[in-house]
Amino acid sequence: MNNKTSPRILVLGGGFGGLETAFYLRMRLGNWADITVISDRDSFFFKPNSIYIPFGLDAERLKIELDGPMKRRNIRFIQTQAHQIDSINKIVYTDADKYPFDFLVVATGANTYPEEIPGLEEYGHDIWTPQGMMSLRGAFEDLAREASVSHPKRVLFMVPPNNKHAGPLYEMAFLFDSWLNKNNHHGGIDIVWTTYEKDYLQDFGNRFDPIITEEFERRNITAYKDYEVERVEPKEVVYKNGQSVTYDLLVSFPPYVASTPFLGLPSDPRGFVTTYQESRRVIECPRIYAVGDITNFPVKQAYLAVLQADAAAEHIAAEILDTEPKIKYNHPVSMYVLDEVDTAIFAQIPLEVKNFYQQTAEVNEADPEAYRVGTSPVWHYGKKLLGLYLPQRFRAGKPLHSGLTWQGMEAGLKVISQVLSS
Ligand SMILES: Cc1cc2nc3c(=O)[nH]c(=O)nc-3n(C[C@H](O)[C@H](O)[C@H](O)COP(=O)(O)OP(=O)(O)OC[C@H]3O[C@@H](n4cnc5c(N)ncnc54)[C@H](O)[C@@H]3O)c2cc1C
Repeated sequence: MNNKTSPRILVLGGGFGGLETAFYLRMRLGNWADITVISDRDSFFFKPNSIYIPFGLDAERLKIELDGPMKRRNIRFIQTQAHQIDSINKIVYTDADKYPFDFLVVATGANTYPEEIPGLEEYGHDIWTPQGMMSLRGAFEDLAREASVSHPKRVLFMVPPNNKHAGPLYEMAFLFDSWLNKNNHHGGIDIVWTTYEKDYLQDFGNRFDPIITEEFERRNITAYKDYEVERVEPKEVVYKNGQSVTYDLLVSFPPYVASTPFLGLPSDPRGFVTTYQESRRVIECPRIYAVGDITNFPVKQAYLAVLQADAAAEHIAAEILDTEPKIKYNHPVSMYVLDEVDTAIFAQIPLEVKNFYQQTAEVNEADPEAYRVGTSPVWHYGKKLLGLYLPQRFRAGKPLHSGLTWQGMEAGLKVISQVLSS
């Protein structure tokens, strides 16, 4: 870019994708870029650890106020909601004002859409927001108080189609079971699990299924696969295969949609923005990128949002500095820890995109070096460590995937996963 003025880079969203992009760009470009982050909330929320809220964690501990880190990195922060993108004239319209840009990164994330399933919004609890997690805490405590051997109660966990990251619901079922055991509440409560999936956690390949089957058996959780919900009644879920399961408390992770559908960008029917694979640039929109849950990449995870943010930021930096991008999102390898407290499942998952436009991805199961899944109590502590380290990086205004500590941790994770995983 042969322009003497600083390029105006606008980032929409203050979540994993947005913050990683903004902090990476500041690190890469120094002060030679005018970076603005627009988000509708004044804080970042570390969602992965919100699974502990129903069991006592204070939700406030997962929040990072954005003002401090932004000032520290000389990034302008504007709290407002974006609702329209003019990709031709390069302007974002928000509730506060309109903002012109040279480069735009859209990282506004996903939302859940329980309305897609009749009855789910009325009768189901979900695990999407801190408020939802607090309400679940109350519901778990009430149930534990009311249940007894003579008055048994049932908690049904249910994964519907079009949920894009079922892992946290599996964690919730296991954590709930561990919580019941720890507090001697198990007498009157049974747990049932249903999922539309053919294999447990199928988005992460075929190696989770036997491990999770074993976990369900170990914990006496009755579980059914290939149960696609048709509708939810006040005390019963009815499935498309003709079966039904009764419940006293229903916990679900509803279908996903884009949190804000931007009509000015090419998107699928759920509002997920279509991007080129390696750069995360939006199809046919020069200098507009999208990262994280808002994109049509089929697996939606914080870890992947960060990898996508690094690729997008690298491509923007390369264009500005007239160099070659050092990071591409061609063969993403995800990492995931599914915590159960007494143990945890760790997975390193190489994902291959199979259909460019629809962005269907498959796990490259043939690559034994890259695809690893294993169980060990060590991973529980690994997840705790990550939960301390990652928010610290954002608090300091630094990208997650950089620096010596991260490189050391990543190398360590690879070695431990080779030792502990299959
Ligand atoms: C309970 C739970 C547990 C999870 N556990 C894990 C895990 O262990 N590992 C993992 O990798 N992933 C996990 N995830 C998934 C992970 O949290 C998401 O994939 C990740 O947050 C996506 O990041 P993002 O930046 O794309 O979106 P988000 O983090 O959702 O951020 C979007 C941001 O955009 C803002 N925004 C939205 N709309 C607008 C608008 N119109 N204008 C301005 N700002 C807007 C929002 O306020 C927010 O700041 C979990 C999710 C949940 C719910």
